Amino acid sequence: MPKGVAPKPLKDCTVVFVLGGPGAGKGTQCANLVKDYGFIHLSAGDLLRAEQNRPGSEYGDMIRDYIKNGLIVPQEVTIALLRNAMVEAIKQGKPRRFLIDGFPRKMDQALTFEQQVCKAKFVLFFDCPEDVMLNRLLKRGETSGRDDDNVTSIKKRFETFRNTSMPVIDYYALQDKVVTIKSDQPPQKVYEDVKASIEPRIK
Ligand code: UDP
Ligand code: MG
Repeated sequence: MPKGVAPKPLKDCTVVFVLGGPGAGKGTQCANLVKDYGFIHLSAGDLLRAEQNRPGSEYGDMIRDYIKNGLIVPQEVTIALLRNAMVEAIKQGKPRRFLIDGFPRKMDQALTFEQQVCKAKFVLFFDCPEDVMLNRLLKRGETSGRDDDNVTSIKKRFETFRNTSMPVIDYYALQDKVVTIKSDQPPQKVYEDVKASIEPRIK
């Protein structure tokens, strides 16, 4: 993307932001929603990890460093990855309904994305106590192979979530756009709550 040229928003897209602390269950519930509602699921973290591992990427080392330290990668990189993935899905003729998982995690990302890509219809927020998320992430870390599923990185991710990402949720709450789901329950129960809460919003 050439510098200084603001990309045009995409036409006729529906976007739902899926937020929540690390380990709150975003990915699990997105998979359910894809099955039942035909959303396209785009995880910002997955896109960043794919870019990190892409041979020849000029951003690989930077992304690795940010992720390991639980910090937010500069928005230009993440937004370009998301936009490209959306454009690609549209080119393939897929339905223009997107679940954007783990994004926006910082106010600048929220404002830029809505300006340059698409406005959010609403935000699905998974609310979970840190001790529960910590246990889930440590468990996941046994097999995930992720550089950031260890206690040191997890603590940093919690801190970033509290200080940097919660203000995004507060911002959308002021616009009455947040659907909050308690995710400290078995996944099936969480999903029932998700369905009941979003049905009226996606008609
Ligand atoms: N990340 C980022 N910008 C984003 C989304 C993710 O920089 O918009 C980075 C950030 O370092 C985060 C990591 O990717 O801690 C992992 O994000 P993911 O959503 O995969 O995992 P979660 O922390 O929600 O389990
Ligand atoms: Mg995830």
